[in-house]
Amino acid sequence: MTDYNKPARVRFAPSPTGHMHLGGARTALYNYLFARRTGGKFILRIEDTDQKRYVPEAEQEILDGLNWLGLELDEGPGVGGDYGPYRQTERREAYREHAQLLVDKGYAFPCFCTPERLARVREEQQRKKENPHYDGTCRKLGPDEAARRAANGEKYVIRFKVPKDGSTTAHDLLRGDIVIENRNVDDYVILKSDGLPTYHLAAMVDDHLMQITHVIRGLEWQSTFPLHVMIIRAFGWEEPVWVHLSVFRKPEGKGKMSKRDTSEAAKGDHSIFIKDLKELGYIPEGILNWIALMGWGVPEDDVMTLDQMVERFELDKLTASPAAINFQKLDHFNGTHIRLLPDPELAARIKPFFVEAGYSVKDDVLIKIVPLIRERLVTLDDCIPFAGFFFKDVVEPNPDELIAKGLDAKRSAAIARKTYEILSALPDLTHQTTEPPMRAYVEQSGLSANQVFGILRVATTGQKVSPPLFESVEIIGKEKSLERLKKAIEILEGM
Ligand code: GLU
Repeated sequence: MTDYNKPARVRFAPSPTGHMHLGGARTALYNYLFARRTGGKFILRIEDTDQKRYVPEAEQEILDGLNWLGLELDEGPGVGGDYGPYRQTERREAYREHAQLLVDKGYAFPCFCTPERLARVREEQQRKKENPHYDGTCRKLGPDEAARRAANGEKYVIRFKVPKDGSTTAHDLLRGDIVIENRNVDDYVILKSDGLPTYHLAAMVDDHLMQITHVIRGLEWQSTFPLHVMIIRAFGWEEPVWVHLSVFRKPEGKGKMSKRDTSEAAKGDHSIFIKDLKELGYIPEGILNWIALMGWGVPEDDVMTLDQMVERFELDKLTASPAAINFQKLDHFNGTHIRLLPDPELAARIKPFFVEAGYSVKDDVLIKIVPLIRERLVTLDDCIPFAGFFFKDVVEPNPDELIAKGLDAKRSAAIARKTYEILSALPDLTHQTTEPPMRAYVEQSGLSANQVFGILRVATTGQKVSPPLFESVEIIGKEKSLERLKKAIEILEGM
């Protein structure tokens, strides 16, 4: 059982090879929650030793993503800490030394096989329907010969020397013992010919040197997990607690994102990338709640803030079975958390969307419209089609929509004129002053509220669906409301 009173040191160790996605964000979140729950440390380590897949902007995107999500780092690039540097390319010397240590102890060997030879070996194995594996040629080289060939400038890698017999048992907190026959484990490369380590060496060395207590990582590492355990045992180090998280199943349910235009990185009609989700108007609280529940055995509809998650988080309750990505649930959590935001906070969050859409936003207006639209927002950018009219000088109502249901243009024009008359007689248009005379008019006229208010709504907001009508008219103000109504009358009379 996990001891939650013992401060853990955990790391999120992404490779900067692309956009930060949901899987990475969830791994980061679980590490963060565990660190906070135990009063421990949440560390970022950038695993950038694969130069071929390196994407220069990716590290910044990871930092921005974590920051935006609110997963505050205790140690990492740019943050500092006692165990740095936190970028693997800045730790080359440590890997070289440790690889050499394994060679010296007989747990690893230099391998001079050329890529061409290895390709031939692989082809041959495939022909024989064997699993591709290193054929052991350089395992047999004596140290003197290896030293001579290295001194001659021959290129070499260092491979881990996996025992040929016996088996290895690796223990995962969620999955129990994983036993593998050693003969089925390849002599993996741990140091490449460019002097940089592979993940297998680098991550083990760093986890040890950074005193990581729990390795919480993606399931893709389960297949090489026994190798990792062998490496750690070869060094004689203490093992961390291992946790391989569940995988995400392909999205099901289209959710909100289907009708949106996501960035080029988006896959199909939705996005699994954090930066896209941000642009689409999802908020960190909604995303975190959603991903937290994908792989954590708490009720699927529990609404939790980050702090509440910290309080409740239990590593042992994470689930091993695959989790489905369901975008409808994301919409649900996003809308729910939007409704929980205080007015000024929600105002600050939607403002950039208005600005981005080209509106010049008046803060005093913005704060007034927030309570009127909050219930209707699934994503922040829903404020644009729903409430953009508040910041427009003129609205362009669809003439057909100005015509009240069951009536013609002429009759609708008459209603609009009567409405104009009522409103223009009022000293100002607060919802308290506007609503009673308008309701009285509905009563007297025998028309329905829908018919009368519908015309006023389309005239003043330019839309058939809007925030509460009289509150909206109040915010639009008397002058502009009357101006818009006048224009509607003209349109209707000209039809
Ligand atoms: N750099 C690895 C990756 O991005 C990290 C795996 C781990 O957490 O150890 O997949």
